[in-house]
Amino acid sequence: MRVKDKLITAVTILAGIVLSGGAFLVERREELTDAAEYVMCVIDKEEAVDDPKKIALTFDDGPHPYYTEQLLDGLKERGAKASFFVMGKQAEAYPELVLRMQTEGHLVGNHTYSHLQLGKNNRETFKSELIKTNELLSGITGEEPQYVRPPYGSWDKSFESELTMIPVLWTIDPMDWCSSDVNGIVQKVTKKAEENAVILMHDEYKSSVTAALEIVDILQKQGYEFVTVDEILFD
Ligand SMILES: [Zn+2]
Repeated sequence: MRVKDKLITAVTILAGIVLSGGAFLVERREELTDAAEYVMCVIDKEEAVDDPKKIALTFDDGPHPYYTEQLLDGLKERGAKASFFVMGKQAEAYPELVLRMQTEGHLVGNHTYSHLQLGKNNRETFKSELIKTNELLSGITGEEPQYVRPPYGSWDKSFESELTMIPVLWTIDPMDWCSSDVNGIVQKVTKKAEENAVILMHDEYKSSVTAALEIVDILQKQGYEFVTVDEILFD
């Protein structure tokens, strides 16, 4: 039965009860509450199954030897995918974590070698950091990275054709790097959550990882599906 039909049935039953008189309502109050809860549950569940809304969690600056591992464990338990924009120097130090990201279905992207911000006078250095990091990542995963998250969002469009790379920015930034308030981070993200949103977080902090997993739990219950960011960019 479709959600609309279920609603019509529920309204019809309720109208019948009201027409049959107030005494009936008082006597059967508990049963009616149970029935209403049941109907709402079925509707919630059906909406979640019918209409998975895609959303992307993205993590910058890792991998971190401890917190990234915790995050990967939590994402695996929840069947959620994420996108990791790793720094070359971190990937060099913890290649096993980069390989684990890829093996478990996450997207591995480039966040420069040393977290360099593109400015007016460092175009060539910036480009060489992207190339060096791409080489490092493809050496670990066997795949050439296609996606880049430029540190601080500073980007030069001509790199897209020069390096065949796609920049990935974000739509929700809870500023998790400057707060250890897990609940605050969770609230900022869940309040702004919408279909095809791209959430920016960092997997080098305990509070960020704890918040990210809570965010997954809350939004999955609301019918969101956590996908890699390419699924949102090319939907
Ligand atoms: Zn960063």
